[in-house]
Parts: sequence; structure tokens; C-alpha cells
Amino acid sequence: MNLLKPFSCHTRAALLFCLIPLLFTVVFPQPEGLTPVEQEIAATVEQQSDQAVDLLRRSVNINSGTFNVKGVRRVGKLFQKELAPLGFDVQWIDMPPELHRAGHLFAYRRGTRGKGVLLIGHLDTVFDKNTPFKRFEIHDTTATGPGTEDMKGGNVVIVYALKALHDLSLLENTTIIVALHGDEEEAGRPTSISRRDIQAAAEECDVALGFEGGVSGTITVARRGISGWRLETAGIRGHSSDIFNENSGNGAIYETARILNGFFEEVRGEEYLTFNPGVILGGTEVHFDPALYRGSAFGLANVIAQKVVVSGDLRFISDAQKDSARAKMRTIVADHLPGTSASISFTDSYPAMAPTEGNYELLALYDQVNRDLGYGPIEALDPGSRGAADVSFVARLVDCLDGLGVEGNGGHSIHEKVYLPSMDRATKRAAVLVYRLTR
Ligand SMILES: [Zn+2]
Repeated sequence: MNLLKPFSCHTRAALLFCLIPLLFTVVFPQPEGLTPVEQEIAATVEQQSDQAVDLLRRSVNINSGTFNVKGVRRVGKLFQKELAPLGFDVQWIDMPPELHRAGHLFAYRRGTRGKGVLLIGHLDTVFDKNTPFKRFEIHDTTATGPGTEDMKGGNVVIVYALKALHDLSLLENTTIIVALHGDEEEAGRPTSISRRDIQAAAEECDVALGFEGGVSGTITVARRGISGWRLETAGIRGHSSDIFNENSGNGAIYETARILNGFFEEVRGEEYLTFNPGVILGGTEVHFDPALYRGSAFGLANVIAQKVVVSGDLRFISDAQKDSARAKMRTIVADHLPGTSASISFTDSYPAMAPTEGNYELLALYDQVNRDLGYGPIEALDPGSRGAADVSFVARLVDCLDGLGVEGNGGHSIHEKVYLPSMDRATKRAAVLVYRLTR
């Protein structure tokens, strides 16, 4: 199909004939910014949209809660069967048994053409085996079911974007790696093991695209990282009537109150920086189970508190912000009240995806693809409004975007749904973007 063939208008009839397509262009916007090849890509995606919905149905109907190891592997098999015929070397990567995770599906194509692109999805959902929320159901233009939006929809977008490119022989000699994790919702610890393969994949690539659910007209160029922290304070057990005197000191609970108030007064206020004490236990006897975030405490009103444990999180937009917040918190902790002691420890969880220049350059490319497809402009989503995701683990290594997946809502709840027309749009965008990146 050659849409760009020049035509001449010599007669009035011919002139009218020539104007009709123009009128249609105004009334029904066509993706006119696309090259002929890209128009073919978009048309191929459209032809396969029913098959894409069917793949979504089949993947949603297999329960794959993070801890349902068999289910996650079955969903992996399903996507393996889709990716292998597209010329990918598809591998199931097992995790060591002590991580209690199913493993990951990785698919590799290696070439020398254009940029290397890493496409990121995940096979698991937050819905365990016993959830009553099991089935994929279509209601008019939406489909409900576990993982429809987060993010089996995004996985299907990846597959059908690549399928369109493969059908038009446009994957030849490209470097594309698909990473579908089996444990995104609850990453296996340590992440140095569970996220080792995605980091190795990013080393081979220039760009990473995450297909978590999208928000219309926006894309994620930055997302905050998460760190855990635990504060423990100690006081001298004694009679309450002696509190505040030199020998008895002020007790662990006052020391904790001083520290938390110090965090609130002195560390709070930077954009994108938050820290939240999620649980606190204090008294004479305290038992806290850090694996389950629960415990018990006992203390009498007439006894000076001996021990307090606080567990919380810290969210940050860059390593620099994380490090400076941690330093300020440590300083506050170290300034003990008489008769008390305190310590704070931090654990790394998700790194931040900082809003780098490279990410904004990718945003510009993506924005152009959108406009060329007739979908309008794209803006950066507020980093404060997104939780962490796997793309963050490679953000230090490559330029990246996230939120290229389907549009929907109710993620992580039994109301989860996908807006079906968004699948087609997301797939066309992904296919054209990958095509441009790999030229
Ligand atoms: Zn997700």
C-alpha cells in the first residue's frame, strides 16, 4: 500500500476527488506522521488485536500470585510459546530454592542494529491461589480480572508489538531483551540475586522500557526508590517516679518521641522525600518480628520504658537524596537524652529511577511517536504519584521509561480492570518506538 503516491488535479471533478481523502483526514485523524513502514506496523497491530485480547484472557485465567510458583511458571510457559517463534532465545531462569520464588522468563535477540532495547514486564500478580477474583471477563470496552492492568496487559503489549515487527521482518539484527519477572510484586531477597539477570540484560542494552500500567497522556521518567529503616532505643528500667532524674534518665519512649519529632521537624520538607514510621512497639518487654512486621509489647504505667522498636520506610528520588536523608536521621538519633541510647539501621529495597536527561530524551522520542500516531502529546508523570517497580533496578545503567502498558484501574484490588482500546494504542506505540530505537 502506497499512501504517498502523488496525484494531480487537472479537472474540477478530479479536484473534488482529491479533496475527499483530505476531508476524511480532518474528520477521522489518520496516523500521518508515520512512515509507510510504520503505517504497516500500526495496521499489523490492529489486525492482531483480537488475538492479543485472547492471549490476555488466557494469561489472566491462570492464577499467578507471587507465591504460587506453579502458576507463575505456567504463565511463563504461555509467554515463552509466544516469544520463541519471534526468533528469541527464550530462557526460564530459576531462582535458588531459599528465595521461594518461581523464577523469571527472559528472551534474547542479539544484533548490531540501532540501540539495544530491554522490555520489562512481570508474570506475577498480588492475588494468591485462594482469591475469589479469578476470571477474565469482558464488559463492553473493559475487561476485569487479576492482572489485567498490572500487568499481564503490559506483557501482551510487549508480545504483540514484537509480533508485528517480526511479521514485517523488522527484528532482523536487532538487540532486544524481554524480561518478565516472576516476583515483581514481592521481589525475592536479596535483590542482588533476584534482580541480577535484569541488570546483566541492561548491561547489553541502551534503553529500558517498562510496561506497567499507563496513565493517559503521561509517561514515567522518574520514580522514587524505597529504603527500610529500623530504630531501636533503650532506657534504664526503674520506678516511674524517678524518671527525669540523673540516675534513671528519660526512658526509651521519650527518646523515641524526641527522635521521631526530630525527623519530622528537621528532615521533612524536601520534594519527593518522605519517611513513614509504620509500626512502633515500646515498654518493658518488646517482641518484634521484622519478617512479619508484627509483635507485642508490655509495660506498666509505673515503670520507665526500657525498649522501643520502630520500623518504617523512606522514599527518595535519587541516591543523593537518600544518602543525605539517612545522614540527617543518623545525626538526630545520635543526640541521646540522658539515660538512653538509640540506633538506626537502613536496608536498601528499591533504588530510585532519577529523572535523568537521558530519560527526558526518551520521553521526547515517545512523545513524537504518540503525535505521529495521532494520539497527542505526552507529559512526564509526577514521580511522587508512582510506587516502585522493576525498571528502577536498571535505571542507573540505561535510559528508561515506565508506564508503557495498558490503561486501567483498580490495580491490586478485586476491581482491577483494563480499558481494552488502550491495548491496541499501547501496542502500536511500543512497536513504533522499538522500531525507531532499533534503526
Ligand atoms: Zn506491576
